[in-house]
Amino acid sequence: MKIHSFNVQPHLPENIKFLEELANDMWFTWNWQAILLFVQVDDELWTASKRNPKWFLGSVPQKRFEELSKDKNFVEQLNKVKESYYNYKNNPHTWYNDHKHENGKLLTAYFSMEYGIGEGLPIYSGGLGMLAGDHMKSASDLGMPIIGVGLFYKQGYVQQVLNREGWQNEEYPDNDWAHMPVERVLDKNGKDVVVDIPLGGETVKACIWRVPVGRTSLYLLDTNLQENTPAQRAITEKLYGGDRENRIRQEIVLGIGGVRALTAMGIKPTVYHINEGHSAFLLFQRIIDIMQEKNLTFAQAREIVWGSSVFTTHTPVIAGNEHFDPQLVRKYMQYYVDQMHISWEQFLELGKEKPTSATYCLTVVALRLSAYSNGVAKLHGAVSREMWHNLWPELPVSEVPVTSITNGIHSSSWISHEHNELFRKYLFDNDQFGEFDPSDEKLWKKFDTIPNKELWKVHNERKNKLITLVQERLKRQLKRQGFDVMTVKKASNVLQPDVLTIGFARRFATYKRATLLFKDLNRLDKIVNNPARPVQFVFAGKAHPADTAGKEYIKLIVGLTQNDPRFKGKIVFVEDYNMNTARYMVQGVDVWLNNPIRPMEASGTSGMKAALNGALALSVLDGWWDEVGPCEFGWSIGGPENYKSDAERDAVEAESLYSLIEQEIAPAYYAKDEAGMSKTWINLMKESIKHIAPFFNTNRMVKEYYERFYVAANNYGQILSEDGKAAEVAAWRQKIAENWYRVSVTDTTAAPEKAISMGEQVKFTARVTLGGLSPEDVQVELYLGKRGTRGDMVKENAVAMKCVGQKDNAYNYEVTIAPFNSGRQDYALRILPANNAIPNVLTPLFIRWEE
Ligand SMILES: *Cc1c(COP(=O)(O)O)cnc(C)c1O
Repeated sequence: MKIHSFNVQPHLPENIKFLEELANDMWFTWNWQAILLFVQVDDELWTASKRNPKWFLGSVPQKRFEELSKDKNFVEQLNKVKESYYNYKNNPHTWYNDHKHENGKLLTAYFSMEYGIGEGLPIYSGGLGMLAGDHMKSASDLGMPIIGVGLFYKQGYVQQVLNREGWQNEEYPDNDWAHMPVERVLDKNGKDVVVDIPLGGETVKACIWRVPVGRTSLYLLDTNLQENTPAQRAITEKLYGGDRENRIRQEIVLGIGGVRALTAMGIKPTVYHINEGHSAFLLFQRIIDIMQEKNLTFAQAREIVWGSSVFTTHTPVIAGNEHFDPQLVRKYMQYYVDQMHISWEQFLELGKEKPTSATYCLTVVALRLSAYSNGVAKLHGAVSREMWHNLWPELPVSEVPVTSITNGIHSSSWISHEHNELFRKYLFDNDQFGEFDPSDEKLWKKFDTIPNKELWKVHNERKNKLITLVQERLKRQLKRQGFDVMTVKKASNVLQPDVLTIGFARRFATYKRATLLFKDLNRLDKIVNNPARPVQFVFAGKAHPADTAGKEYIKLIVGLTQNDPRFKGKIVFVEDYNMNTARYMVQGVDVWLNNPIRPMEASGTSGMKAALNGALALSVLDGWWDEVGPCEFGWSIGGPENYKSDAERDAVEAESLYSLIEQEIAPAYYAKDEAGMSKTWINLMKESIKHIAPFFNTNRMVKEYYERFYVAANNYGQILSEDGKAAEVAAWRQKIAENWYRVSVTDTTAAPEKAISMGEQVKFTARVTLGGLSPEDVQVELYLGKRGTRGDMVKENAVAMKCVGQKDNAYNYEVTIAPFNSGRQDYALRILPANNAIPNVLTPLFIRWEE
């Protein structure tokens, strides 16, 4: 049967027509008053439409709109939201406008494979997407000039459907563009903007969808067009769907197609931010464009691209980084390699971690061709420097040029509206309806004025909402699975509001160890069924469709919740974890559990969401929590030590988990007074919020990207784009490369034989040969630190030495310092290239240590 369809737009009465505008901007997702309007139109339909306002408005009966247009209260509220929306859009005093310190030409293009902006736009899978969505929203709030680029998937986020045995099956509902909060990008003649993307001997076409996100826009490429072959149309079918070949096709459409799409729309970013390696191919399209536009060579154009590109890595697991078979890469990239006039071998080298590597890795490409790289938490930065040390083999690990910018969350999107109202009441001087910048530390100074009673009341309101949600979901699920009426009915009794509630929700990747809690069921029984201090647990999470081990974890937990009388009704598993479930959970639990295998959780963000809403952290010292714990207002499972085996780690950490709950968490929670409040607990909640909320948010994070990366990338990109500059730098690099083998340090003064006293000056001298280079081309450094365990040095300080003269064919260098520390001092001498026109001299690496 062939089914045809067409769309009928609702006809909104004039005085409530703003609903349409509201439905077209994802701004509503972080503005409760706006959401409330949709809820008031039709609560049930709003839920049924998965909070997708466009679909929703199309389904509301016309009669209801007529009614609402005559409802004075509704119209009044709508006008308030309208005013606040326009104020937001037109506010000239954004953080960016008041703080910017570049030349005002900055525009960052942010590329990501997934975006979690709202439930109604299911183009995300997990934490990476959440982070990208929150980055966009904070950019909007700060007025930061950023646009997003991604893909529009025909099939949304995987839905998890559990069978009676607790086995996860998947459903992929279609995203119907006509009912999505997206609009097609048109040219000035009203025609679709379509970009051509050469793809392995074929040309695929992609159209562009725009998603307004407050003050910023997200552009999504879509190959599902009539003009394309079925195989081409399938490229953007599913997020992370298909085989390796489809993955590389997706990534070329995202990276190369994305740059072409921006060009086609006349958008000219000055900075490109690659969020995870997936979009790294964009670097090559940029090089090609610059080569053609400025008539430059590959080496010259590469300087400009490198100086203006930012790369964020998210994956501390090697296999999680994008690796491809070089043959497959060649099939699709040879066309672009030809355009760059470089050899295939030169191209291949850019993606090889080591000369002997068998795969082409996009993380490696991005690290080599971006001057600014970072991991997403301090610990993850350190792990990434170790992980990619092979790209800078002679450099001490601590100096590998991958820094860290710790992740955050978009607070307004994750705080419950009850908490939001409470915080505003006490933290804001007047009853502003306006913007809320959680990274403004002044805001939190008054946090202690919030009365315990009110904080506790709000917390329990949210807890009750979570319990109701869990009961409803469970009933629906059991009914669908064909359980008998009694079983379904019993679901109304799961979880008790006055019982300590611990939540765990995340993707069921095995390194996240969802089953650690179940290591010793007798011990868990004692905790759950402690008569004086009972504990209950809420679990949720999806496994990747191909991850059988993850699915086994789910089955095990669901089985225990359904069949083990000790845990029935006290440990529950909520089906289909998504942004909405996540919100209920992080806003309603007392404690948020996080027990990945350290250091595999790059950052983790769900714990930040929970903390903002007053849940206390119970976490392994990994990711963001490694920067907070051990502390007075949360609990750290285990320590930072390494274990002999996985089994040992699990045993030690499970023990730590059980005893923390038994000996510290439950007693603190149940230290309740006559009013049923534990002062101890509420104080912990306050301390936790005060310490965590001001820092672990994306406003702070986006500001950091701005201060540390975007400003520099914008400036260097422009300096290097000036006439002749890229050619000059490329020629200089060539000179460095050709002469480096002749560069050496000789004849250093011997280290002082007798101990010197603290504060005494010591002079260090060296003779340096530079081949065809001159002292202006290099920096000679006295490198102070501690001898490491691997014959390397751990840097404490590097001091530039001064050139004081030339004798024969060598230069004399010296420096006089008073040592910074007492005890044994280790030092070494080294030479690096030096050039003010480039952002860092370590890529590619030229370094000469004294032999
Ligand atoms: C926050 C969030 C994540 C990421 O949480 P982690 O702590 O990084 O695992 C994943 N999925 C959803 C739906 C979320 O809301």
